Amino acid sequence: MAMTDERWDAEVIVAGAGPAGASAARALASAGVDTLLVDRAAFPRNKPCGGGISARAFRRLPWLEAALAGVDVHAVRRLHLEGPESAVLDLETHAPCVMLVRRVELDHAIVRAAETAGARRLDGFEITQAAMDDDGVTLSARDGRQLRAPVVVAADGVHSVIGKRLGVNRRWPRQSLAIDMMEETPVETLSAARPDVLWVAYAHEDLDGYAYIFPKTHHVNVGIGCLLSHFDAHVDEAPYTLQERFVASLTRRGALEGRSDRGCFTPFLIPVGGPLARTAHGRVLFAGDAGGFVNAITAEGIYYAMVSGQLAGETTAAAVRRRAPAAAGRAYERAWKKEIGAELRDAVLVQRYLFRHHARVAHVIAGASRSSALTEAILDYTRGDLSYGALKRRLLWRFPRTMFRMARERRPADPLAAS
Ligand SMILES: Cc1cc2nc3c(=O)[nH]c(=O)nc-3n(C[C@H](O)[C@H](O)[C@H](O)COP(=O)(O)OP(=O)(O)OC[C@H]3O[C@@H](n4cnc5c(N)ncnc54)[C@H](O)[C@@H]3O)c2cc1C
Repeated sequence: MAMTDERWDAEVIVAGAGPAGASAARALASAGVDTLLVDRAAFPRNKPCGGGISARAFRRLPWLEAALAGVDVHAVRRLHLEGPESAVLDLETHAPCVMLVRRVELDHAIVRAAETAGARRLDGFEITQAAMDDDGVTLSARDGRQLRAPVVVAADGVHSVIGKRLGVNRRWPRQSLAIDMMEETPVETLSAARPDVLWVAYAHEDLDGYAYIFPKTHHVNVGIGCLLSHFDAHVDEAPYTLQERFVASLTRRGALEGRSDRGCFTPFLIPVGGPLARTAHGRVLFAGDAGGFVNAITAEGIYYAMVSGQLAGETTAAAVRRRAPAAAGRAYERAWKKEIGAELRDAVLVQRYLFRHHARVAHVIAGASRSSALTEAILDYTRGDLSYGALKRRLLWRFPRTMFRMARERRPADPLAAS
């Protein structure tokens, strides 16, 4: 393994063992790279999350199906989407388009897949410092231990300590974060009236955000989220007061049965301003939430965490094999921009366009409900049967004026977002 005379703890250290880190470690170890996957937590551990994964993940990452053997996966074929002005869209598809899983189970399963591929694991290592020099990267833990490797994949989540310590992302602007106020509650206490339907509302209660009911086999995830800048300026209630009122209103409407449980409530932040302008910094590659890989319209982050993690792992493995670890970053940035760059960038534009006037949300939902060809295209994309480029061409054809207005209204990108 020695690339220099220095003693390394691994050829590559992956920091953070969520979907991004575990996917990166799995890809690295599968390519024969000596990989150490570290996390402050001991697995299984929970992560506040709705656990909704678009079905295309299983096509893009064929190893996932085997990894999830034994995990409770609720496949959904029915969607209910609503917006302001009573706009409603109900969809039913021939094949599942969204999979619902509990993160406590999903993350443990992907970590096991990484271990099966040969990655070594170290739990309970809480990174507090990171430093990079010409030869490698040193990670220091709260308890004083240190680890060193020629390359690090930073997958340490939305509050990435590595991003802060290396000065890559000292903090997200508040308009680039969403606060998602969610509970994952056992069905004995709270359940969806229609357990086969994924319920999503945009601009709910006039928030710059969304609300959702994700029914799982033994739990239901109910959440309401909005941009943090919007929350600061327009919401006076405490997060759980808002959640309790939201659950009560859905219960009155007949969409939920039961009551909210504060003990299951875990509000948390999501980066929704697009990927960092620099997702590679010397010998450190940022994947998942640490790099801002979340869809700004849907707040879907699991898929992009796994894809960015896998791409970070594959490009790093290739660079290590060529004995040029410092070249991994450039190859990684090329790879993710080619595969998911356009959809992540466009999602930020669409999010800003829709939230500027909430009537636009109603207009888009009403327009989609009049075009079965368009809704089919969106579902095909969710399942991985249609590329993002092909979907965009169909959207241009169906909504030419909206797409033109969106392009015209495009504001200068915020300093962190990819251009
Ligand atoms: C309430 C909520 C609901 C959501 N719902 C959905 C949804 O339904 N579908 C979807 O696709 N996305 C959803 N998301 C987004 C999704 O949860 C994230 O995008 C996804 O978890 C990112 O994965 P990751 O591996 O990058 O980071 P994480 O899953 O956050 O993993 C980071 C890992 O790093 C470790 N770590 C952090 N700091 C340190 C440190 N200092 N030292 C060592 N280890 C550290 C953590 O312990 C953790 O294991 C939701 C987010 C929230 C907050």
